Amino acid sequence: MGCKVVHGEVGVTSRERFEVVVINREVEAWLRSIRAVDGILTVYVPHTTAAIAVNEAESGLMQDILDILKETTKPGWGWKHNRIDNNAHAHLGNILVGPSVVIPVKSGAMRLGTWQSIMFIEMDGPRRRRVLLTFTGEVEE
Ligand code: ZN
Repeated sequence: MGCKVVHGEVGVTSRERFEVVVINREVEAWLRSIRAVDGILTVYVPHTTAAIAVNEAESGLMQDILDILKETTKPGWGWKHNRIDNNAHAHLGNILVGPSVVIPVKSGAMRLGTWQSIMFIEMDGPRRRRVLLTFTGEVEE
């Protein structure tokens, strides 16, 4: 066993302007591929118009999440950034939700609660996106 920092990434292709994409399987596969054991995982979007959250992947709730973001950030409203780039709402959604989550990892598995899934939240799609993963902890040699 050695303590390491391992970097990786998964790609996400959004198909809608607003969309929640659950990425648990991709993240689990990456943790297996690096033989992660115990540590912490950071899931981070290097984008200013998408976000990352952990919550329940129930289809109605995923629509509710997009609805509250649209209601709060008002796409097409007179935001100053819309003078140069018509996506101020998506930048503001990134500020509200945040670009990352940290998840504890024990015995190779994410310690997510029963109803927790990792959600990539697209607010200015469709686009090809990246999600950066950093595991810090023990890996099997
Ligand atoms: Zn912009």
